[in-house]
Amino acid sequence: MSATVSVLLPIPAERPYTYGVPEGMVLSAGDYVQVPLGPRKVAAIVWDSEQQDKVEPKKLREVISKFDCPPLSAEARKFIDWVATYTLSPPGMVAKMVLRAPGALDPLPATQAVRYAGKEPEKLTDARKRILELTREGMAWTKSGLSHAAGTSASVINGLIKQGVLKGVEIPAGPVVALPDPEYFQPKLEHEQIDASDHLIKMAADGTFCVALLDGVTGSGKTEVYFEGVAEAIKQGKQVLILLPEIALTSSFLDRFEKRFGVRPGEWHSDVSPKKREHLWRQLATGEVRVVAGARSALFLPFKELGLIVVDEEHDSAYKQEDRVYYHARDMAVVRANIANIPIVLASATPSIESRVNADRGRYTYLRMENRYGGATLPELKTIDLRKNPPPKGSFISPILVEAMDEALKNKKQSLLFLNRRGYAPLTLCRVCGHRFECNSCSTWLVEHRFRRQLQCHHCGHNEPTPEACPSCGTLDHLVACGPGVERLAEEVVGLFPDARTLILSSDLSGGVKRLRLELDAIAKGEVDIVVGTQLAAKGHNFPLMTCVGVIDADLGLANGDPRAAERTFQLLSQVTGRAGRAGGDSVGYLQTYQAEHPVLQAIASGDREAFYEREIAGREASRLPPYGRLAAIIVSASSKSEAEGYARAIRRAAPMAQGISILGPAEAPIAVVRERYRFRLLVHGELGVSLQPWLRKLFAAAPKVRGSIRVNLDVDPQSFL
Ligand code: ADP
Ligand code: ZN
Repeated sequence: MSATVSVLLPIPAERPYTYGVPEGMVLSAGDYVQVPLGPRKVAAIVWDSEQQDKVEPKKLREVISKFDCPPLSAEARKFIDWVATYTLSPPGMVAKMVLRAPGALDPLPATQAVRYAGKEPEKLTDARKRILELTREGMAWTKSGLSHAAGTSASVINGLIKQGVLKGVEIPAGPVVALPDPEYFQPKLEHEQIDASDHLIKMAADGTFCVALLDGVTGSGKTEVYFEGVAEAIKQGKQVLILLPEIALTSSFLDRFEKRFGVRPGEWHSDVSPKKREHLWRQLATGEVRVVAGARSALFLPFKELGLIVVDEEHDSAYKQEDRVYYHARDMAVVRANIANIPIVLASATPSIESRVNADRGRYTYLRMENRYGGATLPELKTIDLRKNPPPKGSFISPILVEAMDEALKNKKQSLLFLNRRGYAPLTLCRVCGHRFECNSCSTWLVEHRFRRQLQCHHCGHNEPTPEACPSCGTLDHLVACGPGVERLAEEVVGLFPDARTLILSSDLSGGVKRLRLELDAIAKGEVDIVVGTQLAAKGHNFPLMTCVGVIDADLGLANGDPRAAERTFQLLSQVTGRAGRAGGDSVGYLQTYQAEHPVLQAIASGDREAFYEREIAGREASRLPPYGRLAAIIVSASSKSEAEGYARAIRRAAPMAQGISILGPAEAPIAVVRERYRFRLLVHGELGVSLQPWLRKLFAAAPKVRGSIRVNLDVDPQSFL
């Protein structure tokens, strides 16, 4: 009987499958192979399995081929198993995140090139002379590169090949990015920066597992500081992963990396072309690429010798994936570092409560930078009580804020108005009959987008042209917009400051990432006077001329039932106002609110962030919320309400009794219908130190089989409660 191996396929199976090994093929764990699956051939990974499923010899199918690719490391395989166990996902679905670039499993195709063959041409023209000058020392050139450099047409080169003066050769594909030079440009660091960077350098040199929380105010130079750790890891011959929440928009990050290391890092996110992603994937596996900056999915790249992970803006909710495998990239990055026994740096100006508690308890090394680089001061923050200083009827900017913007404008400085609402208005209604425009597939109001003359659902993407007449009573021209979105706010700004250059920064405006990058550049260069932006404007950008930031609705986000609402609001408002005054000089941040006495707003306005952390941490501890307890959400959806509710109740009934674990619900989800699916939620709570996974596994085993249109999603450590 021939040998068999376990193979993990990128499918939702509970376990690896068993395959036969063909005569003469040698396979070990981590090898990438092609195997038959039904009528298909799929790429999969040879897995370490203690016990293999016995397969009848007649049914046993054989591995088709082994890819010519460095194997997936033991550390990465262990990580996949760990993530699968923790999130209760089939391991194959986690492995699927590694097998993202199937084209990369084969060696990159060689490039066709030409080289001097040692023979002189029959007739020496000027064009031929130039080509000979370039090629004579023996270097290989691509045809297009050579014709560019020599300023000739391709036909001249082809002619020389025919005569045997040049010959065609194959050269292996070069690296997608050049090697970073850790000593290319070393900035002069300041006191606090030196202390923090010394620590990071030590960690990187030591090379064993250790978590550092780099907590520095906006503008303190966190990037410069962790670059020193990155430089040390490179010197140690290690690869580095830098995770960024919105990498597509942070082209300035790539520029800064280049300034420090002489080259750009490898880039991994959805806006990189598939071909480039394949090259990067391959060259990380072979070790040719040393540093990658990427979105959360970069955590599943096949590094050959990873030696340091940096998670920038570690508090950012963009790190949570809520689709197929629900995972938090920051938390899983710590797990990966632990398994690989390497150091990891979490950086933020507003660390998550979880990370702060870990730092307070001494589980993470706490590196604090309280001052901005270069003596720049933080903006002076003030609340504007909208009850006392209301904007004129139908407007949203209070007179105090208008005055501050006017002042900035006069001083040739920039202002930023922040409102976390895309579109023109969040609700449209008919003044005559009161009809409200609602999405047909979701339980949400349609948002008016006036530029596009559309009503849009922000949950399912449905859109329809804005009608002239009310669909309910037929009255013409009596629709009114309720509440502000950034488009409406910009309209008000243009009315107030008709001569100022005003720009709306919002992810839904046409032009995509390219246009956004250009716009961010334009702001940084001072080509814009007033920016009206959604949360995009809050993300780590460096706008040197920004001196006035106004938050239009600081209460937005405080009111929902999310246990992290206060934390999120604190982080967002601190980040937004932190855009002001980064290049020195006086700057202000205004928070418009109806609840100026709210502790979160008080903490921000008084600059007493420690008060916020203390209060929030005490609150979490008292209500035994994370990190003082564990949560998991179960979301049941179905095409009918009764089906969804019925199944959610059945789950509740199947819940085993266990010490320290309780289950709440089912309750209709706050957004009860999305894409014509009714949604119910259950929330599982575990006391500190109680592991939820074994209990959840028992629960799902005891629950009735999922049938019909029912779908069940499990979200361990949920970030969203909608
Ligand atoms: P943070 O990420 O903490 O908000 P950054 O790393 O973006 O801060 O730094 C803010 C600005 O100060 C950037 O323009 C950065 O280049 C500059 N900067 C910080 N530290 C130094 C330094 N030691 N030398 C030169 N420039 C620095
Ligand atoms: Zn919808």
